Amino acid sequence: MPQHTLPRPICGHCDGFPTVTITTGTRTPDGHRETISANCPACHGTGHTVPARAHTRIGA
Ligand SMILES: [Zn+2]
Repeated sequence: MPQHTLPRPICGHCDGFPTVTITTGTRTPDGHRETISANCPACHGTGHTVPARAHTRIGA
């Protein structure tokens, strides 16, 4: 069985945990703690490094 799933490198910025939930400290009217989610700015929430554009040409 050929495997087409290439091992993608784990994002070094978030170490594979691209989304974090932050507790704001305030509570919603329901009594739950209000949280916000933030995605890793480096991998945009994918957990893997974004493939660089290797074919970018300068001055061509
Ligand atoms: Zn990341």
